[in-house]
Amino acid sequence: MKSIILIAAPAAGKGTEASILKEKYHMAHISTGDILREKAQEDSEMGRDINYKINNGIFVSDELIIDILKERIQKDDCANGYILDGFPRNVAQAEAYQEMLKELNKDLGIVIVIDIDKNVAAKRIAGRRSCPNCKAVFNVNSDELKPKVEGHCDKCGTELVQRADDNEETYLGRYNTYIEKTSPLIDFYDKLGVVYHVDGNSGIEFTHEQVEKILGE
Ligand code: AMP
Repeated sequence: MKSIILIAAPAAGKGTEASILKEKYHMAHISTGDILREKAQEDSEMGRDINYKINNGIFVSDELIIDILKERIQKDDCANGYILDGFPRNVAQAEAYQEMLKELNKDLGIVIVIDIDKNVAAKRIAGRRSCPNCKAVFNVNSDELKPKVEGHCDKCGTELVQRADDNEETYLGRYNTYIEKTSPLIDFYDKLGVVYHVDGNSGIEFTHEQVEKILGE
């Protein structure tokens, strides 16, 4: 399977779609946000700095994220292709990633953009709950994504948490950062002829149906 880069505004459904693809095609799901949330727990200056940045929707440095990614994509579970969820976040990261692929002799694969209206995404953010253990994502405002037992992860039973950056106020900043810094990537990858768009406004099943069509092409 080709590797897949998912590009979308926060809460458009990147993580959920990546989990479905991981199960189905046995590809690695690489969420740079999840990796950083782990690192943010460390009792060190770096851990505290990452924690502050995540909680305020500020990007960590390109150097740090590039190092993290380079190490991650060389792990055995990436041999079969992988899904990037949250990387690259700006054109500088995309350029560094192109260099990395060349160096490691890996293919870029395809880019899937999940389009979503700002207001739909902002509503989703308020209901999003995450499992700190297995990283599964739920949504108390969605019938498709509600946990079976209130407040607990369907997969491992761990108590669900609401991310500190999942509130409407921080969301607006994160959305604006997406438009300003991340959305130019669509043009960057369009020039390479690897971009596909899906509509993410209508929920998980519809998003996934569209992704399957692209993968079947
Ligand atoms: P996410 O889980 O993808 O919404 O990411 C949560 C937060 O982690 C972001 O708001 C950033 O602070 C940080 N982050 C995740 N991925 C990256 C990246 N590729 N570059 C810089 N910061 C990132």
